[in-house]
Amino acid sequence: MQITHVRTAVIEGNFDWTIVRIDTDRDIYGLGESFCAPGLTAIIRDLAPLLIGEDPRHVDRLWNKLRWAASGAGSQAGIVYNAISGIETALLDITGKYYNAPLWQLLGGKYRDRVRIYADCHAGEALESLSALMVARRPRWLPTDEAEALPCGLASELNRPAHGRAYGSPQLSDIFTPELYARRAREVVALGFTALKFDLDVPNPYTHDSFNGVLSHAEIRYMTRLVEAVREAVGDTIDIAFDCHWRYNVSDAIRLACALEPYGLAWLEDPVPPDNIEAMRRVREATRTPISSGENYYLRYGFREALERHALSIVAPDLQKCGGLLEARRIADLADTYYVAMAPHNISSPIGFVAAAHVCAAIPNALTLEFHALSVPFWDELVQGGAQPLIQNGYISVPDAPGLGIELNEAVARRYARDDEPFFA
Ligand code: MG
Repeated sequence: MQITHVRTAVIEGNFDWTIVRIDTDRDIYGLGESFCAPGLTAIIRDLAPLLIGEDPRHVDRLWNKLRWAASGAGSQAGIVYNAISGIETALLDITGKYYNAPLWQLLGGKYRDRVRIYADCHAGEALESLSALMVARRPRWLPTDEAEALPCGLASELNRPAHGRAYGSPQLSDIFTPELYARRAREVVALGFTALKFDLDVPNPYTHDSFNGVLSHAEIRYMTRLVEAVREAVGDTIDIAFDCHWRYNVSDAIRLACALEPYGLAWLEDPVPPDNIEAMRRVREATRTPISSGENYYLRYGFREALERHALSIVAPDLQKCGGLLEARRIADLADTYYVAMAPHNISSPIGFVAAAHVCAAIPNALTLEFHALSVPFWDELVQGGAQPLIQNGYISVPDAPGLGIELNEAVARRYARDDEPFFA
């Protein structure tokens, strides 16, 4: 069997869902997904000649071939691994289809038939779409009249030039309230989810400066009230996590994490920037609130120091970015030697999501997998095969069909495809 084509399509969901399709000279093709990034499809096209004519079933050797080919250009980490991650999943999909085995089988077999999902609830409201540079844009599936009806000026905000951060301008702080967080939490629990995550670094009426990493006492009180509202809304049996998106300095991150201890968070995500492992370790050691990070780390090497120095309570690699599914398994196994669980970050279409679910089924230390598309109305329609809907009562049943076990619904994909990108052409 030989690879004949490597092609891409970009579907505009709440992120640019970048799908990789690899064709062979047999009647088998594979699908994978890469985490959106500027220049991503050009990188995939540039890597393609290294794969044409190769046998796709030698997944790990081809993965290393791509890796070493790119290493001279300085890519020990970064966007090239977003590309390689999507390619690797497509190679595994082909291999599974060829041997009539689901991906969880190729990854070592199953620990569980269903994977627990946590719902990303954003910031009390969920209507957003972000470009590959994480700049807010108007969701293209949103009807015009619905956009006009959005509360608190969010509609005009979405139609205005971007402010450079996902939440728009600080005057929107009146939508980031304990009441809206609590309401959103109750709505999402009613859908059957037993684990939720909210953003905590939202516009705050007490912020003096959003660049210096400082949190005042008033800001920490405001954030604590958001967390308290969610905990009171859902009770003690639902896991709740909060994301800080790398914003704060060490001492204020510690004050925040300690202030949140009474609310029993599943984790506090990225309270400090990800680059300084010692800074992260100091936060983790100073609080009983579990600290999570990992969506910025690449390959097992990117997690090694953080694990060796006990800087993380939970690892959160993004499986469309960290190097692929086999590499994710290696990261999980490395974390397991430190008795650390994995809760993968995920913002992908159902293709990348199901790929990640296969890994979560196959590793012992899976905690929960992120679902970030509550607000995207066509998410389930985008694929065929597998259960419909894919997530039921907060869990996904991992498909048993060969490979990924789902296929892209190309008619739906084409409807939302970016017209300035090739569609598997
Ligand atoms: Mg995060």
